[in-house]
Amino acid sequence: MGDTVLVVEDEKEIRELLRRYLERAGFTVLTTGSGAQALNMVADGVPALVVLDLGLPDVDGVEVLRAARQRGQAPVIVLTARGEVEDRIRGLELGADDYVTKPFSPTELVLRVRAVLHRAGATAQPAAASFGDGRLRIDQGRHEARWDGEVLDLTPTEWGILAAVAAVPGRVYSRYELINRVRGYEFEGYERTIDSHVKNLRHKLGASGPDVVQTVLGVGYRLGLRRDP
Ligand code: CA
Repeated sequence: MGDTVLVVEDEKEIRELLRRYLERAGFTVLTTGSGAQALNMVADGVPALVVLDLGLPDVDGVEVLRAARQRGQAPVIVLTARGEVEDRIRGLELGADDYVTKPFSPTELVLRVRAVLHRAGATAQPAAASFGDGRLRIDQGRHEARWDGEVLDLTPTEWGILAAVAAVPGRVYSRYELINRVRGYEFEGYERTIDSHVKNLRHKLGASGPDVVQTVLGVGYRLGLRRDP
């Protein structure tokens, strides 16, 4: 799996631009415009790296930066508006790993994400991952999933759901997160249709389907397999 990058940015256009570039570079991308939601994701240890706009509508971006640094796990690249020297200083004091000043080149940002992850010792190269003693194999680079050695013939949405829940096995993904990951944009009313895609995905996994993609009532879905060492 490509490393998971969380983009926290309340400007939707910038958010979606970053998603496109980062996904093309092989990363698994989650986005949110909410600092509160970002705090939850960081607390869950979801992202390998956070791209963070400090000016958020609900929570001060600095809180998100502080949380990521406290965990000592997720490096942070801060997005600052030109001339916001104060943001830069605040971020520096709190130990951001890099800065990009708006307006920025998405290509340059992708390079910086790679460089920071490399420094952090994470692998930015997408690779095949195996789950449940090799029963499920997911090759992010090839967009290919195998169940018991057989390639699954998945629609892009089914692939997206499976790849998303496999990012952190056992972690529950809300329907909102799955849409966000799968569709690449927020789509009102789409949440219910996630259920029918999950149903089709399970069908393709055969009798084990409901155990592989498990329902967590009232919350969402999770992968019911452990990642193999
Ligand atoms: Ca902002």
